[in-house]
Amino acid sequence: MNGPKTGHNLIEHILAPQDSQDIQATHEIINFMDEMPGGFLIYYMGGNQEIIYANKALVRMFQCTTLEEFRELTGNSFQGVVHPEDLEAVEQSIMEQITNSQYDLDYVEYRIIQKDGNIRWVEDYGHYMHIENVGDIFYVFIGDATEKRNLHLAEKKRLLDEKIQKEEKLKSLIEEFDKERSLINQEHLRRLEVIEGLSVNYESILYADLDADRILPYRLSDRTEKQFEKKFQMRRFRWYAKDYVDTWVHPEDQALVAKVSSPEYIRKRLAKSKTYYTNYRVINRGELQYLQLRIVNVGSRGRISQIVMGYRKVDEEVRQEMEQKQIFEDALNTANLAINAKNTFLSNMSHDMRTPLNAIFGYTALAKKYIVDHGAVEDYLGKIELASKQLLELIEKVLELSWAESNDTRISETECNLSDIVQDVHENLLPKAMEKNITFSLDSTQMTHYDIFGDQNKLRQLLSNLATNALTYTEEDGQVDISVKELEKFPNNFAVYQFIVRDTGIGISKDFLNHIFEPFEREKNTTSSGIHGTGLGLTIAKNLVDMMGGDIHVDSTPGKGSTFTVTLRFRIQTHPLSSANHTEDAFSSLLNKRILLVDDNIANLEIETEILQGMGFIVETAINGSIAVEKMELSSLGDYDLILMDIQMPVMNGWDATKHIRGLKDPALSRIPIIALSADAFDSDRQMSIECGMDAHLTKPIDVPLLLETIAKTLHARKYSETDGSKQR
Ligand code: ADP
Repeated sequence: MNGPKTGHNLIEHILAPQDSQDIQATHEIINFMDEMPGGFLIYYMGGNQEIIYANKALVRMFQCTTLEEFRELTGNSFQGVVHPEDLEAVEQSIMEQITNSQYDLDYVEYRIIQKDGNIRWVEDYGHYMHIENVGDIFYVFIGDATEKRNLHLAEKKRLLDEKIQKEEKLKSLIEEFDKERSLINQEHLRRLEVIEGLSVNYESILYADLDADRILPYRLSDRTEKQFEKKFQMRRFRWYAKDYVDTWVHPEDQALVAKVSSPEYIRKRLAKSKTYYTNYRVINRGELQYLQLRIVNVGSRGRISQIVMGYRKVDEEVRQEMEQKQIFEDALNTANLAINAKNTFLSNMSHDMRTPLNAIFGYTALAKKYIVDHGAVEDYLGKIELASKQLLELIEKVLELSWAESNDTRISETECNLSDIVQDVHENLLPKAMEKNITFSLDSTQMTHYDIFGDQNKLRQLLSNLATNALTYTEEDGQVDISVKELEKFPNNFAVYQFIVRDTGIGISKDFLNHIFEPFEREKNTTSSGIHGTGLGLTIAKNLVDMMGGDIHVDSTPGKGSTFTVTLRFRIQTHPLSSANHTEDAFSSLLNKRILLVDDNIANLEIETEILQGMGFIVETAINGSIAVEKMELSSLGDYDLILMDIQMPVMNGWDATKHIRGLKDPALSRIPIIALSADAFDSDRQMSIECGMDAHLTKPIDVPLLLETIAKTLHARKYSETDGSKQR
């Protein structure tokens, strides 16, 4: 380096003009450089990188007005031209480029700081050269690249923004897609769950495409597994359908299942409804099972091709269905039988009712006509009475049956005497036996315990029905025997009795024996022989035996006779009351007993008072339950010995009154014997009376001997239980 030379001198030195022509040219070059539109700079490469020359454009670029000003601003060094932050990188880049460039050229971009502090970007095209006597220098063309760079930056930013925008859009699309996919997944899962839930009963589920002749299993059972080697293996649908039928289906159902699972049939059925099913049988390890194949259309409605096939066991359902069917059939049969029986009954009834009614009308007309002929009128009235009795009997039987059928099957157990009951039945029927000259015997000697707790009305009615039949279906001069046997006695005070009604009558055919207890059934020989009857007596008898928990049995030989045997179990009384002697004692002790008679009907009160006083009782009356309770509350021991209580009364009925009385504090009053005297004869009423604490239940109109007997027994029992210190029941 040859010491500091500045400005034009240096340029001139560099250009080294030789003659005046050269000098001229050198000046022109300098002028040219000065006036160049772009910046131009020459500086030393080494040392402080001192600036040799800067043209006017470069000076302006730094907002300087003179070269001197520029030199001052930049410290007259290339290092002062470059922004301090860019300097190191710029110098390094220039050195690298020059080292590697064949033509000693370099290109750098950097920032400059203008005089007022503004920053601008410039492009720097440098050229290194070594000049003899001058040293290593750089020629540099500098252009303002701020706009270009800004434009470039803006473009870059735009592109970046665009990219960001695109990315964001993509991101939101992806997010949306993800959301939708997760919704679809959820929906898919939900559907799968629903399908799983609904198909839980199905042992196999398969998806088939009929057009493609393909079937794909979704769930396999032991059975369908045989047709698929592994899960999700496709098979030809037609092959599968045939193989399944051949392998599993019961021979008798093979044609059916082959038909309902053929593509043609499936298309036909699914065109009408979305689904259908078929029940069929399979044999599994020798055991018969019922299965159901359900086929559902899951594709389009127009062209049926995609289907789902489900197989499930329906043993239980089919069994229930069959049972249900049986129940309906039985109900229908019963209903039909009942209708038939009812029709037969109605025609019998109307015939049986018409006969006596005609007689009544006929004889009434005759009686009117011959009213002055006393003998004839008496005869007609007798006949009218007979016909009326027949009519009454018919009506009573029908009523008895309807009672028995009204589910009023409770048993009202009271103290009773078996010997008395059979004796009553026998006595009541003796006239009928005598009419036909039938030998009618009774044997009640084969018993040790006569006194029992039982439903005497039911027993009486039962024996009466059997004995009446025996007398009815036995011809004149025949024989009918009633006998009672005590079979065995159990330690818990129960005994088994057998009641046998034997006759030497027309007998019963074997065929008819099977129907003998069915309602409205009568054997042909009896109807054709013109014997009056309803076909209800034995039905009622059987009902009664059932209610009492017993058993009835018939033996019969046509032409020789029949034997009806009834077996019943009764609780026996531990303290018998009513042997003949006891009864007499009991009756004599009734004189002057004080009775409180409760009834709301004044006429009844008068008649009953009359009867009771006639029997030696002292009677006081009350016209409803409430008054009776009041009288009892105000009474003291011995005022009343017994209460006869009507049931249906205003203010307070007999049952409520009894409950009140039984609730009285003084046991001497609360334990007074109470006998219901009611117009209601239903068993439920009787039962209710006993449940309310009454001692017995008698029906009106009053049967005087029965009333007397009941009063005697009740008072006796109460006296006994008082002395015994314990109630009998
Ligand atoms: P009814 O006697 O009113 O016809 P039942 O129900 O009592 O009705 O009897 C039904 C049928 O059973 C009678 O019609 C009769 O054919 C037959 N039957 C009942 N008891 C006897 C008997 N002791 N001997 C022969 N046949 C009898």
